[in-house]
Amino acid sequence: MVVEAEPNPYESARAQLESVADELAMEPWLVDRLSQPEREFTTNFPVEMDDGNVRMFKGYRVQHNNARGPFKGGIRYSLQVSRDEVRALAMWMTWKCALVKLPYGGAKGGVNVDPRELSSSELENLSRRFFAELEPIIGPEVDIPAPDMGTNAQVMAWYMDTYSMTHGHTVSPVVTGKPVSVGGSEGRYAATGRGVSYLVNELAKRRGESIADLRIAVQGFGNVGSVTARLLQEAGAKVVAVSDVQGGYYDGNGLDIPTLEAAADEYGTIADQPIGADPISNADLLEIDCDYLIPAAIENVLLESNADRVRASVVIEAANGPTTPAADAILRDRGITVVPDILANAGGVTVSYMEWVQDLQSFFWEEEEVNRRLRRIMLSAFDEVWELAAQRDGPLRDAAYLIGVQRVIDAIRTRGVFP
Ligand code: NAD
Repeated sequence: MVVEAEPNPYESARAQLESVADELAMEPWLVDRLSQPEREFTTNFPVEMDDGNVRMFKGYRVQHNNARGPFKGGIRYSLQVSRDEVRALAMWMTWKCALVKLPYGGAKGGVNVDPRELSSSELENLSRRFFAELEPIIGPEVDIPAPDMGTNAQVMAWYMDTYSMTHGHTVSPVVTGKPVSVGGSEGRYAATGRGVSYLVNELAKRRGESIADLRIAVQGFGNVGSVTARLLQEAGAKVVAVSDVQGGYYDGNGLDIPTLEAAADEYGTIADQPIGADPISNADLLEIDCDYLIPAAIENVLLESNADRVRASVVIEAANGPTTPAADAILRDRGITVVPDILANAGGVTVSYMEWVQDLQSFFWEEEEVNRRLRRIMLSAFDEVWELAAQRDGPLRDAAYLIGVQRVIDAIRTRGVFP
């Protein structure tokens, strides 16, 4: 049996950039500039564990580009975190922020740790020490982190407090995705999934489909996956399959999402719930009979080896980088519509931007206001991408890249090269 090598996400991200370089008439130096990060930071740091032992951890912050504004991007805690993964995620943030016209550049961070293995106090110690290590390179006008896989609002609160302690006053705009009680925004927790659900509704409309007829499969049941599944079910769709890292369920009549959300809240997983649905693996979920497939967990799940078995007619990339370039080409040849990550999951950073604006002004908005602005921004970006894709008779990803990368190179060219 031939085992497909795990594609390197950084190589995928560079290939995606290079695929639009000619059409955008990018000079070689500009391709070179944007196909690698501006700055990279690695830290090896100690954390005291509950048993008194000290363990070493490795963390990264990669700042890809800040031509359009401060660096912006989440911090991930996972055993899969590597320098190349963080580089890819940072590059995707640059295009994403530009695509939805936020005045930000792109960055990403990560710590190589499984947060589920830590106690709450160990998680706090690790988070505070990591953020203290980052202190020289971040700040509300410099680089503003946010949650990603394995981190959450509580971790953001520890980050904010750590930074504030070293500055002698509260600095809430240094991170976004915080709890509302310490300067977080209403609507931020659900923002990414809500953005995905706005796009699904709009896409269905443009394809002449009724949301009530759609059968949807969602991989990943964390922040993004669970909110996406719940909102789409509330909108009338049938969510026929969901999974988390431990596996998932299929029910052709639709799953009971609120029950699974309650299980995820209580046990940290949806595994082993007596809900009367068929158990399925994460690999099965990708090949299940459904209309829209929504990967909302990790990168590199749609590969050259399984792309020809995807049965959905639409893939919405709620996760970052779920489709490799080789798989993307297969899906394209098969006429499957792919809504690219830099568009599909931009709702999170969009409401992070609103949180930062509210923090800077110390003036807070109601959730209705946040959601209204989110919807407008998501649909306007979708419309631009859809129109360009139609004009070029090409895929949505290429259109999204052409728009996002163009905005970044416009900013770089307009600013000029500092001597
Ligand atoms: P999370 O930690 O809240 O949830 C991750 C989910 O994926 C969990 O259910 C976990 O069990 C599952 N998972 C982990 N490894 C898996 C595997 N190998 N196979 C299948 N499932 C697996 O993370 P999240 O914030 O929901 O992020 C999910 C994805 O969305 C990531 O790609 C992230 O970069 C992207 N994203 C998140 C946000 C945000 O606001 N949180 C914004 C934009 C994009």
